[in-house]
Order: sequence, then structure tokens, then C-alpha cells
Amino acid sequence: MEIISRKQNAKNAAKNIQEYLDYLIGTGHERCILKHKEMVHMPAAIAALGDNPSPDSIDKIVGNDSYTSVSCSVCYKKQEKVVIVGQCEDNGGEYGFSLCLICLRYAEKCMVEREIDEI
Ligand SMILES: [Zn+2]
Repeated sequence: MEIISRKQNAKNAAKNIQEYLDYLIGTGHERCILKHKEMVHMPAAIAALGDNPSPDSIDKIVGNDSYTSVSCSVCYKKQEKVVIVGQCEDNGGEYGFSLCLICLRYAEKCMVEREIDEI
């Protein structure tokens, strides 16, 4: 299990945007960069925010929350943080199921009530 949060995504945003730009250049998709010229300046603008930038300030620079948002796989709501479960090495450890605290507590409540019913 792993916890991911908007704050953690904010810390990695500059690196992730730079990796995306490098990917576009490496795969010959420079036209995508020309179409979104403002992206080229984002990693430096975000880095200028310091080591612990707020997710909201990154969203302002990017123009949306695509590099900071975290959402729950059950309620589909955007959350500040979620726990990732079901991640396994077989699929590269990249994909899992994300649960927010509300859905996690609801799952716990269902488990406890089931146990009481079965007694
Ligand atoms: Zn949820």
C-alpha cells in the first residue's frame, strides 16, 4: 500500500512536466510543444516556487489540476490524498485501486457489520 497526495504530486510536478516535454521531443512530437508553448516555461516556473510548492500554486501555473489531482476509484471524487491498494509487481506496480478515507471507512463499516450479522 502506498499513500499518494496532492502535496506529493506538487513536489514532483516540475519533474513530471519536464519528463513529458522530453518524451515529446524524444518521440518527434515537437509540434505538440509548439502548440502548447507555455509548457516549456512551466518546469522553471514551478521550480521557482521552492521545494515544497502548494498544489494550488502549481495548478495556477499549469492552468488546470492535471499534475496535482488525486481521486478515489470508488466515489470518483478528487481528494487531498488516497491510499493505493492492489498494486502488484506483475503489472509494473504502476496501477492500483485508490481509496479515499471516507470510502475506506465505509468499507470498514461494511466489514464490521457483516461480522456482527454472521455471529
Ligand atoms: Zn472515495
